[in-house]
This record gives sequence, C-alpha cells and structure tokens, in this order.
Amino acid sequence: MIRMAGVDKFFGPLHVLKNIDLEVPKGQVVVVLGPSGSGKSTLCRAINRLEPINSGIIEVDGKQLPAEGKQLAALRADVGMVFQQFNLFAHKTILENVMLAPMKVRKLNKTDARTRAMELLERVGIANQADKHPAQLSGGQQQRVAIARALAMRPKVMLFDEPTSALDPEMVQEVLDVMTTLAKDGMTMLVVTHEMGFARKAADRVIFMADGEIVEDSTPTEFFTSPRSARAKDFLGKIL
Ligand code: ADP
Ligand code: MG
Repeated sequence: MIRMAGVDKFFGPLHVLKNIDLEVPKGQVVVVLGPSGSGKSTLCRAINRLEPINSGIIEVDGKQLPAEGKQLAALRADVGMVFQQFNLFAHKTILENVMLAPMKVRKLNKTDARTRAMELLERVGIANQADKHPAQLSGGQQQRVAIARALAMRPKVMLFDEPTSALDPEMVQEVLDVMTTLAKDGMTMLVVTHEMGFARKAADRVIFMADGEIVEDSTPTEFFTSPRSARAKDFLGKIL
C-alpha cells in the first residue's frame, strides 16, 4: 500500500532522509519510533507530498504522487493524516469540519457528506458534540474529530504524527482506543508515537529511525525484548 524506494530528502545541507526503502502492505500497522530529529515527521510528510523529496520513489497503492496540481489533491486524499496539533477549522462546527473535504475534493453532495460525517462522529464517540465548535471540546475530543475528518475522505492509508503528544495525560487513552479500533478494522497505518503500550499492543511492525535512517525493522516483541543496535538500546533505556 505504501512503497518508498531510495528516498532522499535534504533541508539545505542537512540530509534528513537517507536512502529510505520501506514497503507497507495493506492492513499493516507500523509504529515509527526514534529520537527527536531523526526524520519521523519528514517521513510522514514526504508520503503525502507535504514535503518534496530530492530523489527516490514514493507510491501509495501503486500510484506515484504527482508533485502538484489537481491530481495531487485527489491522490493525497487517499492518505489521511493526523497531526499533533489538531488543525480543526475554529470557526466551523464539528460536523462541518468533517463534511468539508469530502464535498470539496470527493464531490460528495451535502446530504451524503452529512450522513457520512455523522457515522464517523458516531464511530469516534463524538456524535453528540456535532453542532459545537472545536474550542468547546477537550483536546482528546478534538483529536478524535481530526481522525473522523481524515477518515471522511475514505483514505487507503492513515498517517499519525505524534497524535497524543499535545494531549493531557487523561485524554491519551481515548485517542489510542480509536486508533486501536481502526487498526483492528484493517486500516493501513503508519504511526509515529512515544506511546509504547500502543506500539506493543497494536503494531504489527516497529521501525526505529535514527539520523534519517531506518536502523531497525522488526516485530514489537523483537524490538522491545532484543533490540539489535546500540542506538535502539540507548533509546529504549531512556524511555522505558
Ligand atoms: P522528528 O519528527 O523525528 O523529530 P523531523 O522529521 O521533524 O524529525 O526532523 C528531521 C530533521 O530535519 C531535524 O534535524 C530537523 O531540525 C530538520 N528539519 C525538519 N523540518 C525542517 C525544515 N522545514 N527546514 C529545515 N530543517 C528541518
Ligand atoms: Mg516529529
């Protein structure tokens, strides 16, 4: 579902992604771990072309994303992304936030967009807040809306970049629960997170990045019980 081959990314002289090869089959849940600055966010952003790459190939469902234009909008819609900051439209209601993109990009009519949005708000446990504005919701609720909004486009892949890092501790689990359900329902997911409980329980695969490289690629059990590299051992020593 995702294929990266020989991907390089530079910010000026800084080599941020170094010859990345990564294939994620349909339905797989990949957790990306690594120290700050190792290139995790850039990897996510490269996959849906929020960040141009300098060389290599990135395909989603067998299609390479064009660099720009109308086609990009359509293909990018196949890749849902959820950020640390929820980025909801503050002046729109929760329902409108979820309805908007499918109407604009997928050309859904209003009735269908509303029906789909309500189903998704139901699924993330927030249907009863549909007419409120983002500021009236807790951080955990807002992040669940952000997930519903991404799902409204019926993406083939969901990317999560530290989705719980900006949340108060008591709200982390409600967001992880939604993500776990999504994973169980068969969504292809790439999740950057520091939530090791989620990595252990929900991931099929753990990728550990350091200095722009994929240093380890293993099962959660392998990674947490017997990391091979010194850098992974050092990382685990600091967080566990
Ligand atoms: P992570 O998400 O693992 O913390 P990032 O992908 O955000 O890492 O960053 C990788 C490296 O690229 C870091 O050294 C960071 O400072 C640098 N970087 C990220 N975004 C930019 C940018 N827009 N301009 C210049 N350097 C950047
Ligand atoms: Mg990051």
